Amino acid sequence: MDHFEYRDRELFCDDVSVSELAERYGTPLFVYSEKTLVSNLNQILTAFAPADPIVCYSVKANGNLSICRLMGRHGAGFDVTSGGEFYRAQQAGPATAKIAFAGVGKTDAEIKHALENNVFMFDVESEQELLTIGEIAKGMGRKAPVAMRVNPDLPPKTHVKTDTSVKGVKFGLDLETVVDVAKGVVNHPGLDVVGLHMHLGSPILKVEPYKQGCAKALALIKAFRDLGHNIRYLNMGGGFGINYRKDEAKPAAAFAEVILPAVKEAGCQLVLEPGRFIVGNAAVLVSRVLYTKATGGKHYVIQDAAMNDLIRPTLYGSFHRVWPVHPAADVPLTPDVNGDPDDPSPFRAMPNCFNQDVVGPVCESGDFLAKDRPLPALKRGDLVATFSAGAYGMSMASNYNARLRAAEVLVTGGTHRLIRRRETFKDLVACEVDCLT
Ligand SMILES: *Cc1c(COP(=O)(O)O)cnc(C)c1O
Repeated sequence: MDHFEYRDRELFCDDVSVSELAERYGTPLFVYSEKTLVSNLNQILTAFAPADPIVCYSVKANGNLSICRLMGRHGAGFDVTSGGEFYRAQQAGPATAKIAFAGVGKTDAEIKHALENNVFMFDVESEQELLTIGEIAKGMGRKAPVAMRVNPDLPPKTHVKTDTSVKGVKFGLDLETVVDVAKGVVNHPGLDVVGLHMHLGSPILKVEPYKQGCAKALALIKAFRDLGHNIRYLNMGGGFGINYRKDEAKPAAAFAEVILPAVKEAGCQLVLEPGRFIVGNAAVLVSRVLYTKATGGKHYVIQDAAMNDLIRPTLYGSFHRVWPVHPAADVPLTPDVNGDPDDPSPFRAMPNCFNQDVVGPVCESGDFLAKDRPLPALKRGDLVATFSAGAYGMSMASNYNARLRAAEVLVTGGTHRLIRRRETFKDLVACEVDCLT
């Protein structure tokens, strides 16, 4: 459920007209719905309430300070994957917000900074990292709270580039050796092994992988405790999928149904690190049509958003719904998309629509938002919305082709505010020094 809907054939975010926002702030523009953000977070808090969960919003999905602040205000902690994200979480936090630190390549400086700033837990991904954290903490007269991140070696469950729990990926400690690694740090003066961490990958549309992961986690928690480690947290990461197409995703309650019994059996407090589930469907990317053209038997819509604004289609072949902000009276109000994610041709024939590629100005053939997509005829100046663009959109945006990164607006009921201004040409060169002058 999100708060983007058509009223009289015009797209609204909450009670604000999307085209008015485009007029005011320009395009390309990310438009976020506060109500959607908060209700998505609350859906997770409610579904998992019996386990008294600590929900750490995953900053890499969308690190905008206003969005992070909103999460903090509604009771979330943060999951970060770099010193930069740690900084964002601190800027956004309440001071009491819990910050979990994951990632396979934490630097010594990042580890030290996190320890000095009361990191909630390090999600540890290798033996060398574990020992390094232990040494640094010991040198500071501290005990570092660590969760052993385990790769549970499950069957493939999502896109190969975002599946983090199949054998051979770079993430986590090996299932076969993790108990030995844990054995090696019993009574380590710089380490407190407080938890087990397992992030399966993303987006995940089925509950089965969580069920399988939990079973492996339970066995490991028992083994760690038998060694003498005081395990208090089971951190199941994030990864909950969303409806990019139609209704393919599961509600949080479905995941809770398989995760909660394991948490209870483990006698742990639950930690979750959702990103996409909270922010994914809380934004649309609004762009304006520059040109249309037909070439090589294909129809192209060239509009002013590009792979530098939303790289998911290019990087993962991801599907985003794309539709006019003002659909004409003779076309459907919303695109008719088949929700089955395993169906290779999810589009249905629609009246007064024909197949078009929606592309941007970037000089790459791989620069597209949608391919061979039934869409109504569009013309210069029309606005189009790319839906479910809130997660891994702006956070992966770049300045490629020296394009200015988009503006971001947060809508709250009938009001809106700019939460990131559009970049300027000066911003583009601001970090370049000397310049052979
Ligand atoms: C990326 C990531 C997440 C968030 O994944 P979502 O699919 O956005 O929920 C959570 N935990 C870790 C360790 C991650 O790397």
